[in-house]
Amino acid sequence: MNRYALAVHGGAGTINRNSLTPEMEDRYHQGLQAALQAGQGVLAQGGSAVDAVTASVCALEDEPLFNAGRGAVFTSGGLQEMDAAIMDGATRAAGAVGGIFGPRNPILTARAVMLRTEHVMLIGPNALRLAKDEGLPFEDESYFFTQARWDALQSTLAMRAAGQEDDDPARRHGTVGAVACDAQGNVAAATSTGGMTAKAPGRIGDTPIIGAGTFADNATCAVSGTGHGEVFIRYNAAGEVAARMRHAGETLADAAHHVVMEDLAKHDGSGGLIAVDAAGNVTLPFNCEGMYRGWVNQDGTLETSIHQESRRVECS
Ligand code: ASP
Repeated sequence: MNRYALAVHGGAGTINRNSLTPEMEDRYHQGLQAALQAGQGVLAQGGSAVDAVTASVCALEDEPLFNAGRGAVFTSGGLQEMDAAIMDGATRAAGAVGGIFGPRNPILTARAVMLRTEHVMLIGPNALRLAKDEGLPFEDESYFFTQARWDALQSTLAMRAAGQEDDDPARRHGTVGAVACDAQGNVAAATSTGGMTAKAPGRIGDTPIIGAGTFADNATCAVSGTGHGEVFIRYNAAGEVAARMRHAGETLADAAHHVVMEDLAKHDGSGGLIAVDAAGNVTLPFNCEGMYRGWVNQDGTLETSIHQESRRVECS
């Protein structure tokens, strides 16, 4: 039996220590812990990596602090359009949705694309129809509205109107994700996002693009990214971690570090990623001030972190 491992993220970017009150910090840690526990519950019972990442991402989508599902950011048109993807490293089966609004958990619609259709990505009304046919729960505008996201949209639009460039796109984004390796040595990745604040209506980021923000293959690794989506797409970030392992024989940690610190950081791609390989190794590099993240393994050690230092919780 393999040793299982699980990692989650709740977005990366400019996470200013001074503006984060101890209460808010606690809430973030609790949100990450709840997501880890949801996925760990699956893995500890011998469940699959795909089920574990689904459970973790659903927990993160339900937590309004994070930019996915309930806490999704707004487009420049004042609406919310969500992207999500899931990939099974055992089979390379994948499912993704782009620009959807309505399903409580976009990741479950992506999973339905993977399991119920012969396609990899669905968008618009046909993605919603699939979610309805699957009997997935839907929510209305009031469920998804958060004042903080609305205020962020107004300030971004005001900056734009004043002709000011946001010098740090990391300020405007966020995403949630999970990667896991199960006791059978299968890996999986899932990622879900509202995208970037004030994005153009119809804009699709890296999250649902297999190989950009999400990727999984037992032969190499499972990856979930968060950051400036356009750069992740152009540098094929998640797929590049796997490619460096496969073709250059790099370790998971070296491959992920190179992609985040060289390919992305040097080309305006602020952000980070979480990755796991089929031996249960985990790495969580980021090139900006912080990344909401956490990891747990079979020893029962669960850690969550926002900046460099981490909080450790011993599980029984
Ligand atoms: N990568 C996401 C996007 O560009 C945003 C983020 O992860 O912060 O849609």
